[in-house]
Amino acid sequence: MNFVKEPKQRVLDERLETRAIEFHGHDGPFMTLGLRMGLAALELLDCRGWFDLRCEVRLHWSPPDSCVIDGIQSSTGCTMGKKNITVVEQPGVEAVFTSKGKILTIRLRENIIDNIKQNITDEDIPHEMIEELEGADISEIFDITLVN
Ligand SMILES: [Zn+2]
Repeated sequence: MNFVKEPKQRVLDERLETRAIEFHGHDGPFMTLGLRMGLAALELLDCRGWFDLRCEVRLHWSPPDSCVIDGIQSSTGCTMGKKNITVVEQPGVEAVFTSKGKILTIRLRENIIDNIKQNITDEDIPHEMIEELEGADISEIFDITLVN
C-alpha cells in the first residue's frame, strides 16, 4: 500500500481551504469550524492524521450544522470510508477525538452557533464571518477538554 508520507498539515491556509471547498462544494462558517476543530485535534493530540485518530461528531445531522463533518474529514483525514469518523444526532455541535488513550472534546460555544444562525440565509453567507472564524483564538469559539 502507498501511505501518505507527510503528516497532515496543522495550519488553516489557502491550500487546505481550497481542498476542503473542492471536497464539500462551498465554503461556510460551519465547514470552517470543522476545519479548525480537526486542526486543533491534530495539534493537541499530536497526531499524523488519517489513521492514528478517531472522531465522533455529535450534532444535528443536517446542513448547515453538519457541514462541520466535512471540515473535520478534510483537516484530519478521518473519513467515512475508513470508518474512523462517526456521527451521533444530538443538539449543539461537538466532536470527540480519541488517540493513544487520550480523549479530546471540542464543543462549539452556543453564542457562536446563535451568531451564525442569525446571520446566514440560504442565499447569503457573510464572508466577514468566515474570516472572523478563521482568525479567532480557539478558546473564543470552542470549549475544549482533554483527558489523558
Ligand atoms: Zn455546507
